[in-house]
Amino acid sequence: MQVLKFGGTSVANAENIQKVSAIVQQALKKDKAIVVVSALGGITDILLQSGELASQMDESYKAKLYVVEQRHLETVKALLPVAQQSSVLSWVKKNCNEIEDICNGIFLLGELSARTKDRIVSYGELMSSQIISSYLNATGISNVWKDSRELIFTDSNFGYASVDFALTNKKINQYFSGNNNSLFIIPGFVASNETGATTTLGRGGSDYTASILAAGVYADALEIWTDVSGMMTADPRLVSNVRQIPHISYQEAMELSHFGAKVIYPPTIHPVMSRKIPVWIKNTFAPQDYGTVIESDAKENGNIIRGISSINKIVLLSLEGSGMVGIPGFSKRLFEALANEKINVIIITQSSSEHSICVGIEENSSVKAKEAVDKAFAYEIQTGKVDPLIIEKNLAIVALVGDHMKSHTGVSGKMFGSLGRNGVNIRAIAQGSSERNISAVIASDDVRKAINVLHEDFFENTYKQVNLFIAGVGNVGSRLLAQLDQQKEYLQEHLRLQVRVVSIANSRKMLFNDEGIDLKNWRQLLDQGEQMSLQRFIDIIRSKNLRNSVFADVTANSSLAECYDQLLQKAISVVACNKIACSSPYEYYKKLKDLSREYNAPFLFETNVGAGLPVIGTLNDLLRSGDKVNRIEAVLSGTLNFVFNNYNGEKSFAEVVKQAQDEGYTEPDPRLDLGGTDVMRKIMILARESGERLEMDDIENRSFMPASCMKGGVADFYTEMAKHESHFLNIYKEAAAANMKLKFVAKYENGKASVGLQHIDSKNDLYHLYGKDNVVLFYTDRYTEQPLVVKGAGAGAEVTASGVFADIVRTASV
Ligand code: ADP
Ligand code: ASP
Ligand code: MG
Repeated sequence: MQVLKFGGTSVANAENIQKVSAIVQQALKKDKAIVVVSALGGITDILLQSGELASQMDESYKAKLYVVEQRHLETVKALLPVAQQSSVLSWVKKNCNEIEDICNGIFLLGELSARTKDRIVSYGELMSSQIISSYLNATGISNVWKDSRELIFTDSNFGYASVDFALTNKKINQYFSGNNNSLFIIPGFVASNETGATTTLGRGGSDYTASILAAGVYADALEIWTDVSGMMTADPRLVSNVRQIPHISYQEAMELSHFGAKVIYPPTIHPVMSRKIPVWIKNTFAPQDYGTVIESDAKENGNIIRGISSINKIVLLSLEGSGMVGIPGFSKRLFEALANEKINVIIITQSSSEHSICVGIEENSSVKAKEAVDKAFAYEIQTGKVDPLIIEKNLAIVALVGDHMKSHTGVSGKMFGSLGRNGVNIRAIAQGSSERNISAVIASDDVRKAINVLHEDFFENTYKQVNLFIAGVGNVGSRLLAQLDQQKEYLQEHLRLQVRVVSIANSRKMLFNDEGIDLKNWRQLLDQGEQMSLQRFIDIIRSKNLRNSVFADVTANSSLAECYDQLLQKAISVVACNKIACSSPYEYYKKLKDLSREYNAPFLFETNVGAGLPVIGTLNDLLRSGDKVNRIEAVLSGTLNFVFNNYNGEKSFAEVVKQAQDEGYTEPDPRLDLGGTDVMRKIMILARESGERLEMDDIENRSFMPASCMKGGVADFYTEMAKHESHFLNIYKEAAAANMKLKFVAKYENGKASVGLQHIDSKNDLYHLYGKDNVVLFYTDRYTEQPLVVKGAGAGAEVTASGVFADIVRTASV
């Protein structure tokens, strides 16, 4: 004998029932079969809603019942030949009238008991199974319909009844032994108590019905036919790249389902496990797929864990108080109080100080729990030994499950590390002594993110997804987008990174798409985006709560730089090409560095100095390895270098500056380069990274620009420079006469920093610098005579974009 169970989606309509029929026909070629069916998909919910509405004296229950009737009538009409329809149709109508009579009664009384609820909801399975039985008979697949209420007996805990296995197994045995039929159609979910009243086995209970029957008849196999191709490594509604689990042990399946893998109802495993009956999870819509087999000794699959699951709508109850320490019996009384109210405890933790016990239960039992526990401890609360029960809401549990976890160290470390890096706060932790499960209580809002990061980190051949928010699409930003597009495949193949640009914004518009913006078409899409509002933009990034979120600032905007703290506090990494944050008052720079450490969210700004050159990275490496920076000398302005390398009096100074701007080497406002501010910012950042507490005012700037050039707007700046051509020519001639080059040099030594134009002779390390190159000389305890030199192109959109790109990739490897 084999037992096949078909869930709600599998029998949702005539088309699906035809698929079921084909599967049953195929199965009968092997052996006799018991087929257990759920109600037509969605009907259970509608029936329950009708009862609730009626009890609230809301007449709209009638419209709901109309839907129930129509769904069943339509299914019959679509399945059965006209000649055989009428008896089934009138039977359906008769059942629907009964439901309506019951609901009318509830409406009049304004009262709905658990017992009546079970009565109403049982019609779902009773009708679906009768329709399917009639259909199979009509198509020549001969079968008998048997009411499960005559086979499965329970206590009177309506809605969630417990099975009396002795009686049930006896009845099953009596009915099936000696029965020569080869196919039985049986409604799932429903059972009866000792007085014959209808009970139900809990939501999702048809799986359990099938398992009870399979165990009762010692079936060779139990097949659960549903709408997915087996158990998956995580809930496919939450994670997009789940993998199917071909083999899993009974215990693992039980843990996964207990912690929320809805694909199988938790009590289902128990009856078949004791008889070692294998359970197959199969897909009605893809019967050829292998599915999952649940068995005693599941093959190892190379992964430490088998799957990840989650339960939402959890509340944590905490019983605390100094009066609890060392006195036995407190936990017993707590659990007794909950058990008396039939409240299911999902997770328990107790601190070793015994000062508090923490219990996770379903949210809908929280009011009952509070009343029961406070009543049980009324005396202790009154005398101040314990506090009234504390309830925390909006929580969820995530659990890692796997038989092989016990032989591996570091699983929980990896789990909490992954969650921590993504800013997921953990409220409580439990690990069973079987080490088959580690569970953590977290905020409901974090569930999707948590499950996704855990899935990425534990199922290694999936790739890591980085969700990137980009502000600024000017010279650098647009190059960055082009590079990201171009490197997509490479990143995925070689670094196992999928960088998804989920938002692009400029000063006018902002665009979001959690599935990733089409980078070939971003300009048009951004044009159609919503109007930019800075705070809203930041709020959206924060509230999206996507895993591995990175914010890249490729603007020169100061208001945006003021928002980095809000992002880092949400564990969102910040990559800044914008120098303003790091060169703003020291307090803010320090705050950002501290937040980055606290929330484990990288804050990277390599392009702040020397564009794509590894200047800050090199400095950090020196310091990390224990070296000490004594002096820094640098030419840090690609713009000024370009200008002084190209200016020799043939073209005017203003023209050469304009050329630098046109070729994209300058800051959006070129005065920041020419006046030295940009270089001051850079040397300050290097000094700060070296551990110096330095402000802009502390830096000496020996500017070569006439004061009048720095007044007014950018246009005035060019006009004024033209007026002062002789000033610039003199500076040039003086240096040329001495056979020297002009370099705008930044220095940092003994806690002091300065910037200014200098004459450099040909023996100096700074002399041979061409085009827009930058050079930085680090003199350290280890590099004393010969400095460590970092030199190369230090400006330009393409190299800056690639520096930002490298920082983005770096955030992902943390
Ligand atoms: P049925 O109506 O057939 O009983 P259910 O809706 O009860 O089906 O269960 C199947 C659903 O369980 C799937 O559609 C899937 O969305 C969900 N599910 C949750 N976790 C998992 C998991 N780990 N593996 C497979 N499916 C899962
Ligand atoms: N129809 C019931 C429910 O939706 C039982 C089941 O489908 O397993 O919960
Ligand atoms: Mg189910």
